[in-house]
Amino acid sequence: ARMTTVTTAGAPVSTAHLGAALRAQFPALHQTVYDGRPLVYLDSAATSHKPLAVIEAVREFYERDNSNVHRGAHALSIRATNAYEAARDKLAAFVNAASRREIVFTRGATEAINLVAATWGEMNVRAGDEIVISEIDHHANIVPWQLLAQRAGATVRYARYDASTGGMDAEHMISLIGPRTKLVAFAHVSNVLGSIAPVHRLVAAARAAGAAVLIDGCQSVPHMPVDVQALGADFYVASGHKMCGPTGIGFLWGRLDVLETMPPYQSGGEMIDQVTLEGSTFASPPGRFEAGTPAIAQAVGLGAAVDYLAGLGMANVEAHEHDLARYLVERLSAVDGLALYGPPRGEARAALAAFSVAGVHANDLSTFIDQDGVAIRAGHHCTQPLHAALGISASARASLYVYSTRADVDALVESIVSTQRLFA
Ligand code: PLP
Repeated sequence: ARMTTVTTAGAPVSTAHLGAALRAQFPALHQTVYDGRPLVYLDSAATSHKPLAVIEAVREFYERDNSNVHRGAHALSIRATNAYEAARDKLAAFVNAASRREIVFTRGATEAINLVAATWGEMNVRAGDEIVISEIDHHANIVPWQLLAQRAGATVRYARYDASTGGMDAEHMISLIGPRTKLVAFAHVSNVLGSIAPVHRLVAAARAAGAAVLIDGCQSVPHMPVDVQALGADFYVASGHKMCGPTGIGFLWGRLDVLETMPPYQSGGEMIDQVTLEGSTFASPPGRFEAGTPAIAQAVGLGAAVDYLAGLGMANVEAHEHDLARYLVERLSAVDGLALYGPPRGEARAALAAFSVAGVHANDLSTFIDQDGVAIRAGHHCTQPLHAALGISASARASLYVYSTRADVDALVESIVSTQRLFA
């Protein structure tokens, strides 16, 4: 383990012990389920738990500053507006956006992708054009492009899953990019395989063809340093609830010159410049894309989550999860009859793993180990095409985060092995 130290409540700890040191700050982790089984939460890729700092920021907002934003000239409205816009500043700094105006608040990654498909997509994708995505992606980064292609008469082309690397076949994706490609979209980190996309090569190939790039950062922003300018895409999206923040809030980062060309998404209050009965003009970004009363308390909570993660240092978070990922793969690989998906042992991967256990359906496995207090996810994880490529209909998935420990992995493996015995 690396010897980097992180200060938690004044005491420096090595990143190898970060999870244990942070647990006290996550109240939901301190509970028992069923007949007194301590909770072992291994479903953080679906949603993360929230530190006290976030819970308190949301409570304090409602107790003290609650008001609508950008509207009133009274004290509470000014405070609420400042808190909401401060959250935008924090996110902009967190992902190194060139301007705070490049951060558009959305309900989450799903809405951010739909926003791009409905605005940039309607404007730029025409009959005969092509959108290049991959079969390993989350449905949120597949279905909006299918619907856009249907409306426009365009075609979606899919990069294959590559069994040898346990990730998306990047060479195949690059080979699909051509003169008719308008957009290339892919996940930075797969929510099932844990594979990490070769962003720079894919962005370079898209650029060379004059195509735009959207990156789904749902499983990267919470777990590693992300610099949107260095990555070089046009759009980058993520969900707040997977990065210690509340549900109902996420963001779209878009290059300002691109956002400025885009028509509105939803319409109504807040997103306008002038409204007359003859017609209306629209606010400049990001306001143009934030119609109606936004998720104010949620944005404030996300701002607190960003402060929390930035305080830990994303390089430290990444080092801790790197250590956990290695341990997870090592322990799961040693279980007889367990097939692990994703990059082979020793290769880089996120701190999550999908797997199948011979003779035990994933749903049964998750139900049985849940009785031991071990929370994982079973099913297709919103990746039916990937599961079809893997030749299965469901898998089990354990996913870890900054508060996870090796002891969590030990509990998972112990529970899997005892379930296997029941089914033997
Ligand atoms: N993309 C990826 C890779 C995800 O893991 C998820 C969440 O499951 C999403 C998109 C959708 O996120 P949300 O449901 O928060 O909009």
